[in-house]
Amino acid sequence: MKKFLAIIIAALFLVSTPASAETQQTGSSDTSAFALNDNIEKFYVTLPKAKGNYKSRLRPILIEGAMNTETEILVRALKNPVAYRDFNYLFVAGTYKNYPVVIARTEIGMANAAASTALAIKKFNPIAVINQGTAGGHDSALKIGDIVIGEKSIDFTAIKTAYSAAGAGSDLTNQEMLGTYAYDAASGKFESYKEFFADATLLKVAKEVAASHKEFNAVLGTISTANSWLNNIDYINFLHETYGSSCEEMETNIAAQICHTAGIPFIGIRVLSDNIIHNSDYVPESAITCQEFVLLVVEDYINSMSEK
Ligand code: SAH
Repeated sequence: MKKFLAIIIAALFLVSTPASAETQQTGSSDTSAFALNDNIEKFYVTLPKAKGNYKSRLRPILIEGAMNTETEILVRALKNPVAYRDFNYLFVAGTYKNYPVVIARTEIGMANAAASTALAIKKFNPIAVINQGTAGGHDSALKIGDIVIGEKSIDFTAIKTAYSAAGAGSDLTNQEMLGTYAYDAASGKFESYKEFFADATLLKVAKEVAASHKEFNAVLGTISTANSWLNNIDYINFLHETYGSSCEEMETNIAAQICHTAGIPFIGIRVLSDNIIHNSDYVPESAITCQEFVLLVVEDYINSMSEK
């Protein structure tokens, strides 16, 4: 009965929104389809469910985003999308520019990003991983809609604070970065990493896209990750001055950590959705800009692989 209802709802949705069916077939990223609400969930119901394990002659590119608003454009850009679910995490596999691509909706936060990334690596054996989405500004020079190409990322909670006695206040700025633990192929052990660097090829391609598409204001920077949302401008300025932090969000450094352990090329690309330094509130539409930029990076990355 439930299945029957789902089919009826899916059929009604397809009839009422021909544009979404069309973009699915053409594989174009039609931003007019962007719904910023639960419509994407209804779209997912219309996607064929995967039968059995993922099979692809070529290793796919994995693109991650935490929320529907950060993945909708990407999912709609895929040709022949097929939905996979594992532990309730959603993955949509298809092709983009005739190359296999998987979109992962990681859900919000560090543990989810780790679980979704590890599952995706197991299921899809990606050739490269791009974690993308929205972020809050740590740099007064950046405004909403600007893109930060993550040369590196940090976990700004992986710290040891200096001792201070009871009643002496809680100044966190007296701290030492500890880093997070990832597998180091050279030593054969898990070692502490204070930062993870972007893969050189992914970074090169992203820089080239930024240089040739001036409609985006994309800069190189450091993406800072935590399960936190900072509104304390002094602490934000401290992170910017101490670690060169460009922006904060909740997934990049963790996905980078898992990819480092798995030995898979990684880059984080984020758009500024809010910047408390300028008192700018969260703008969900900024996520469109990021996905459009990322699709250009993916296209050029595919081309760079075929040139080899
Ligand atoms: N208003 C949004 C809030 C998003 S929660 C909503 O409820 O839909 C945080 C998510 O947005 C995380 O996935 C994180 O990566 C990203 N993010 C955007 N701006 C952020 C900020 N200033 N601090 C932390 N995470 C931020």
